[in-house]
Amino acid sequence: MVVTRFAPSPTGYLHIGGLRTALFSYLWARKNSGKFLLRIEDTDKARNSKEAADAIVNAFHWLGLEHDGEIVYQSQRDEIYAGYIDQLLDEGKAYRCYMSKEELAELRETQMANKERTKYDGKYRDFTGTPPEGVEPVIRIKAPLNGEIVVCDGVKGNIIFKAEDILDDFVIARADGSPTYNFVVAIDDHLMGVTEVIRGDDHLSNTPKQIVIYEALGFDIPKFHHVPMIHNQEGKKLSKRDGATDVMAYKEMGYTPEALLNFLVRLGWSHGDQEIFSADEMRELFDPKNINRSASIYNTEKLDWLNSHYIKNTPNNELAKLLEQYGLLLTSHDKKEILLDAIKERAKTLKEMASLVYEIITTPSYYDQKAVEKALKGDAFEVLNAFGAKISAAKELHLPSDYHHLMQEVVDEMGIGFGKIGQPLRVALLGKMSGPGLDSVMAIIGRDETMLRIANVIA
Ligand code: GLU
Repeated sequence: MVVTRFAPSPTGYLHIGGLRTALFSYLWARKNSGKFLLRIEDTDKARNSKEAADAIVNAFHWLGLEHDGEIVYQSQRDEIYAGYIDQLLDEGKAYRCYMSKEELAELRETQMANKERTKYDGKYRDFTGTPPEGVEPVIRIKAPLNGEIVVCDGVKGNIIFKAEDILDDFVIARADGSPTYNFVVAIDDHLMGVTEVIRGDDHLSNTPKQIVIYEALGFDIPKFHHVPMIHNQEGKKLSKRDGATDVMAYKEMGYTPEALLNFLVRLGWSHGDQEIFSADEMRELFDPKNINRSASIYNTEKLDWLNSHYIKNTPNNELAKLLEQYGLLLTSHDKKEILLDAIKERAKTLKEMASLVYEIITTPSYYDQKAVEKALKGDAFEVLNAFGAKISAAKELHLPSDYHHLMQEVVDEMGIGFGKIGQPLRVALLGKMSGPGLDSVMAIIGRDETMLRIANVIA
């Protein structure tokens, strides 16, 4: 069975890069009817918070990325890690190192002065004497001194690291007994039964160390897929300045989960030249073998394009629910269909939709001066008066077409072009020259409000 996991460190919000590897891991598990597990790497008590861990779970919930099983919190697993440290000590695969901080710093300085790689020199590797007093030891693993560590990577192929170039006997437990990052990752991936690790390639340098731990404990090594980073338009690593880093900010900005997931799945992965993927299609088609080998470029226009695609294709009752986050309660509005149909083609985000709704339903209190000068002159007032008279005389006025007929009558009777009524009416109704179809606007706001808005510009 394929078991994947997402293992965020809750030091802040869930960001786009993290979410993308979570999505890849989720999709690969689902495609294989496997399991997708969630592990919160919260061992750094100073930098991790419960709120940040909850925010990750919230974001998953918003996006519909369900994980399997219980969430594993590393902060609750000290005893498990201590057991494995003891085991390695007992088996002679790890040892206590009594080198003081000063001694270590001195060693480092000498190595730097000699232009050598800075590394622990193995002083206590085979130590059998009496330990020096006053130093709480750290625990170091006996790493291979030579030979090769091969990372079999699904994206990058086999990557060969020479032990002597990259390894030393690295620390697996600090002087206070707390285990180190690479140690707990390896232990947990094994205990959780993870078979494939999909993560950012910024972790590639950790992988050989994790392999050393797997090998020392006789664990099976999972398959790795190190995903290249997301870059901004300038080709640099995506930073906060390039857009929202907190995934939940995308919700606030009015992106739909479908659009965001579709956007992310295409950041670094492709399936022919297909751009639109439903959630089902993603689950069916995703395969890490098609992850690009080079960095992907974050492109806001693409996200906007996808978002407008999904907005256009979302049923109105669902759109109404999504707009509730902007204080709009449209679910039982009798003109909901006309309203949403009138604007869903025009908006890139739900937030833009919400402001279009407010523009329609609010009596204008501000009129764009240029529009007024252009449209409210000459016979414009006469035309508006004639139209107002038709509205007050009309019997049934419900649909956009009812209003359209009245506009047509005015045009025919006065022998004018449509623009002669359209432009002044638009300024009267919306205070500016742009916006959705006027017949829809009038059907939405109704007869009385239409009359009021016309009167406001004639007075
Ligand atoms: N906790 C790590 C991070 O948030 C991920 C570790 C991993 O995926 O192995 O970057």
